[in-house]
Amino acid sequence: MNMNDYMTESEEYVLHTYNRFPVVLEKGEGVHLYDTDGKEYLDFAAGIAVFALGYNYPGYNDALKNQIDNIVHTSNLYYNIPMAEAAKKVVTASGMSKVFFTNSGTEAIEGAIKVARKYAYNKDGHTDHEIIAMNHSFHGRSVGALSVTGNPHYQEAFKPLMGGVKFADFNDLDSVKAQVNDKTCAIILEPVQGEGGIYPATMEFLQGLRDICDEKDILLIFDEIQCGMGRTGKLFAWQHYGIQPDVMTCAKALGCGVPVGAFVLNEKAAANSLVPGDHGTTYGGNPLACAAVSKVFDLFEEAKLLEHVNAVTPYFEKKLDELVDKYDFITARRGKGFMQGLVVSGRPVGDIVKKALANGLVIISAGSDVLRLVPPLIITEQNIDQMVKLLEKSLDE
Ligand SMILES: *Cc1c(COP(=O)(O)O)cnc(C)c1O
Repeated sequence: MNMNDYMTESEEYVLHTYNRFPVVLEKGEGVHLYDTDGKEYLDFAAGIAVFALGYNYPGYNDALKNQIDNIVHTSNLYYNIPMAEAAKKVVTASGMSKVFFTNSGTEAIEGAIKVARKYAYNKDGHTDHEIIAMNHSFHGRSVGALSVTGNPHYQEAFKPLMGGVKFADFNDLDSVKAQVNDKTCAIILEPVQGEGGIYPATMEFLQGLRDICDEKDILLIFDEIQCGMGRTGKLFAWQHYGIQPDVMTCAKALGCGVPVGAFVLNEKAAANSLVPGDHGTTYGGNPLACAAVSKVFDLFEEAKLLEHVNAVTPYFEKKLDELVDKYDFITARRGKGFMQGLVVSGRPVGDIVKKALANGLVIISAGSDVLRLVPPLIITEQNIDQMVKLLEKSLDE
């Protein structure tokens, strides 16, 4: 079968919920992807901020293969070795207290919402608690996560959603304060908004939220699903600000390609929320997923990946700023580390993404007007030069 046949077959059998780009990806190696025709692509999307280590990173595949030969699944009725190892690494790296593994980001959000509601319920016995979320946020597609996602377009047809959610403006502390009341059990946000258009939080905003939450005993939930796992140059983006959440969600690069997520609780949240019977999952934290998580933490450390991101970021930013200077229709750069966005004005972002793909560069969009660059964390300055060349070609066409 050729590429067209695979695409036709997919469209015949797979529910059409994505307008996919016309390419069938077959293999990856390092920071490159290959389609079924053998065409090479430079990958600055990493499977939507997932493949932090790039493809076929030495040691990663073998760790998974070894685990497959031992045991892939046990259920959560029993202990397993990789979960114990992965949990220790997540908790130690975050300085938090306990972790619950899920299969995806949206499930991690569901768990965080349940933690917040149970925490508040334990305090006052009420069942009418509220959560404050941000406009232009993205937290996932399951109904609870969709309810705290500040994008009416994603929500409309699926109402009624989960109740008790109020929206405030990102980086506008007063808009949050205006929504806080005695029912508020949590404030949820991404320290760097991803899908909404790559908006980093300000220091004042996060500090202000931390203060509100401390004062009112509200849980602060940081969604680190996209901005976490080293993408911004710290393992978790909140570590730039020195402001720790009560609950954190992870996914995407947590397993570098194996479907796995997590919600992580500080001591206060862990000690006063979910107990046996409150939450569960058949697959979550299964040995294969946790073997990936565990190996990812080891490889990040061995490769000194955070140091690498921080060393290369100034060059990355400089090259992107040059594009802002060069092209009238690129009006700004926003981002942190290897999570960067170029704001495009007066041209459809989708067209640029399509042209780039045709030219052998994989990039994605964020929101309606932002080109999103979330490459594997192993990219070099040479890869950045190559990306700029391919992107300029696509912009000049
Ligand atoms: C991708 C994403 C999610 C949802 O994760 P899934 O694994 O797709 O369910 C939630 N929050 C943020 C910030 C994300 O980027």
